Amino acid sequence: MRRAVLAAALASALLLLCFGGAASALLLGLEDDGDSFTLASGRCGIQQTVDPDGKLPQLSNIDADQMRNAAIIVSVAQQMGVPPRGWVIGVATALQESWLRNLPDLGPRNDHDSIGLFQQRPSMGWGTPEQLQDPAYAARKFFEKLVKVEGWQRMPLTDAAQAVQRSAYPDAYAKHEPLATQIVDALTGGGARAAGSETHLRCASQGEIAASGWTAPVKGALVGSGFRTAQRRDHQGVDLIVARDTPIHAAAAGEVLVSMCQATDNCVGDGGVNVRGCGWYVDILHAGNVITRYCHMGHRPQVRVGQTVAAGQVIGYVGSTGHSSGPHLHFEVHLNGDGHKTGAVDPVRFMADVGAPLESR
Ligand SMILES: [Zn+2]
Repeated sequence: MRRAVLAAALASALLLLCFGGAASALLLGLEDDGDSFTLASGRCGIQQTVDPDGKLPQLSNIDADQMRNAAIIVSVAQQMGVPPRGWVIGVATALQESWLRNLPDLGPRNDHDSIGLFQQRPSMGWGTPEQLQDPAYAARKFFEKLVKVEGWQRMPLTDAAQAVQRSAYPDAYAKHEPLATQIVDALTGGGARAAGSETHLRCASQGEIAASGWTAPVKGALVGSGFRTAQRRDHQGVDLIVARDTPIHAAAAGEVLVSMCQATDNCVGDGGVNVRGCGWYVDILHAGNVITRYCHMGHRPQVRVGQTVAAGQVIGYVGSTGHSSGPHLHFEVHLNGDGHKTGAVDPVRFMADVGAPLESR
């Protein structure tokens, strides 16, 4: 109902927006995006502790032994009341430290006297070698330290993991975030899509960060022109219809790759259909080589190239610079670190999968 009312109220605005697309295409886009991902993204976890000795899901990129170790990590976190963002951080950390293998003391082939899933060291007070060889004990020790790290739920995964592990290779944690998210979703029925900082599982709402580490870039948006529609095959993102000056948030933690004006009128005020380029815009590189792009900001972005941003951090404000005929956020998601059109994927689907839907509900 609310959606229908909104759609009607914004119909005239939609006519003005989204360069190049007819109004019918925009409205079609609303329908098209509605059902293809619903099954994949509909669930945000089941309120039930994972049983590592029960039947476990299968994923193509990890084997049964690794899945069982991941199940132990998640079940320990659940028993301790650690919210689901911690499950993802725990699994990603163990992926980096041991590839989810319960490693014995490998002697000189290993880093110091490190043992087990989290490569904790007896000499550093983590426990006896026998204790650290027990995956449940090792996981409990990890989470006991994690929950004491101030603000760990909002930190980039790397920072949270590093605060516990003090690794010599801190940057390595983040690259495991997407697989860890997949594993947690498989074990818990979509738990990585739940509000990341609450123990009671429910889908993250707009403005919240999901356990996956993702959040919607703007609140209260209606999805206008969609991704590569029949009418606009070259449209590499979606147009999110929101009021001018609405804050734009980094969709996940990452590093700013681009922060500039790209427009034939040099972003002097609003652009138009005859102006080329995406206006004031930002590209951010996230864990797992995902890139997000935010176009048509009203002013110079609030972030600079090379800057590290947290999930949800304000990076600019909605406007209409560049090839645009009304205020909106043109938002793109690219995989494999490929910022060209070859790397673009449907942002509506991607964001729903990570528990941060673009449209308010
Ligand atoms: Zn667009």
